Amino acid sequence: MEERSEEMLDMYKSLGISGDVFSFGEDVAKELAPRFAEIDRVAEFNQLKVIRGMQQNRVSEACLYPSTGYGYNDLGRDTLEKVYATVFGTEDALVRPLIACGTHALGTALAGNLRPGDELLSPVGKPYDTLEEVIGIRPSRGSLAEYGISYNQVDLLPGSRFDFEGIREALSHKNLKLVTIQRSKGYQTRKTFSVQEIGELIRFIKGIRPDVICMVDNCYGEFVETREPSEVGADLMVGSLIKNPGGGLAPIGGYIAGKKEYVENAAYRLTTPGLGKEVGPSLGVNPAFYQGFFLAPTVTASALKGAVFAASLYEKLGFDVVPSGSEDRHDIIQAITFGKPEGVIAFCQGIQAAAPVDSYVKPEPWPMPGYDSDVIMAAGAFVQGSSIELSADGPIKPPYAVYFQGGLTWPSAKLGILMSLQKLKEAGMVSLREVS
Ligand SMILES: *Cc1c(COP(=O)(O)O)cnc(C)c1O
Repeated sequence: MEERSEEMLDMYKSLGISGDVFSFGEDVAKELAPRFAEIDRVAEFNQLKVIRGMQQNRVSEACLYPSTGYGYNDLGRDTLEKVYATVFGTEDALVRPLIACGTHALGTALAGNLRPGDELLSPVGKPYDTLEEVIGIRPSRGSLAEYGISYNQVDLLPGSRFDFEGIREALSHKNLKLVTIQRSKGYQTRKTFSVQEIGELIRFIKGIRPDVICMVDNCYGEFVETREPSEVGADLMVGSLIKNPGGGLAPIGGYIAGKKEYVENAAYRLTTPGLGKEVGPSLGVNPAFYQGFFLAPTVTASALKGAVFAASLYEKLGFDVVPSGSEDRHDIIQAITFGKPEGVIAFCQGIQAAAPVDSYVKPEPWPMPGYDSDVIMAAGAFVQGSSIELSADGPIKPPYAVYFQGGLTWPSAKLGILMSLQKLKEAGMVSLREVS
């Protein structure tokens, strides 16, 4: 045993991890066994859910064949959409490589279901940065605002609590058509909502306005719990395939799952009125979409282990972490506040240095389309921008928090976090002797 840990330490050293960082990490990891067992249990349940969905929809070898051009009668595409609908407990789903990313999926679902004069409400405060331009919160060409769709927002109360009185007032607006609920914190330090909390919010909304569409931005939330928002009343649920449900294998894509009418409305926007779901070739992505969805529960579990490890480790070093090392998880994102740009930069450079791809690249802060400040992004990913793969990003603005996520395997996530600590130590941001 002694010899084997020597061997392990030597391996870490060969990758640039020093002895003190390694043993600090080992001490943190040792305490996490019960948490990891819980995460594995959720993965086991969700793995069975996915296999059952594939079996019930008779996924066959023919589903893996590609289609081109119009993509009429693409068996693989149509069956995959049924699998998503079964697993998420919805009437229908749209799962396409023609959806470029999460923002595209969300924008498509919104634009497909809102008409001029309608109002959109976010009862959970400001939405994800890129949605600001989709909605027109920040003036933008082609936004919903330009099409005469108004937007209203009810901010959260301290402690990330829903402002039920404020929401009740907002629900009195006659032209309110759709409520969008973002599950994950995104680039904020508020907490991520549990599926149960989302269910309670939807029940409250439906109790007053059963006619409004309740949509959930489920990015980063898939398979973290045993239930999804669609199983607690959401009419529409939207996410990205280069996050959890793509399992790291999907090279592109997004999904929109929910009530048939609303999914079809989105499809008429994604393609065009009259065509809807009928067109859209799967090209060659079906094997990756199927296999990625199959792997997604355990890949998500690996990412969760990385997030819990990062939280526990940086909490021990005295940094603000959201969620804390012991809190329940409802998405795979871990926020760590460093209070200084140097901390954000060192952390991201560490994540990059631990990657299988582009490990020799040193990321720097940069202005990104869709974001209102410079952002530093670390991603040595097989799929560009994939954030189910080990990745970190931080907008260079107060409170100088970094958002860490992903890790296709737990050991790779662990290496990334140890490497981030290594870089912080080298930048003089932490001293390991003080804590141990
Ligand atoms: C990632 C994300 C999006 C946008 O997805 P992209 O694929 O980056 O366009 C939207 N909402 C939330 C909560 C996200 O995490």
